[in-house]
Amino acid sequence: MNCFECATEHQATTPAVTVCSQCGAASCVQHTRVAHAHKEVGYSPGAPSERDLGRRMFCPTCAPESAHAVEVR
Ligand SMILES: [Zn+2]
Ligand SMILES: [Zn+2]
Repeated sequence: MNCFECATEHQATTPAVTVCSQCGAASCVQHTRVAHAHKEVGYSPGAPSERDLGRRMFCPTCAPESAHAVEVR
């Protein structure tokens, strides 16, 4: 599968590395945004009120504000 953003923005065929967890669009490394999903849990003294549900991948359109670009090492 090829990157949806590359295909629609500049008709490029870039191999996709992830699929957006929101809309299902495939995206390449440059167009992938990474964030952690959190779930509100009931507040109890001494316990965090949020639970980390793990990593989520997004396309640029669906990425939440906390998402960041993928680091290529
Ligand atoms: Zn792309
Ligand atoms: Zn998306």
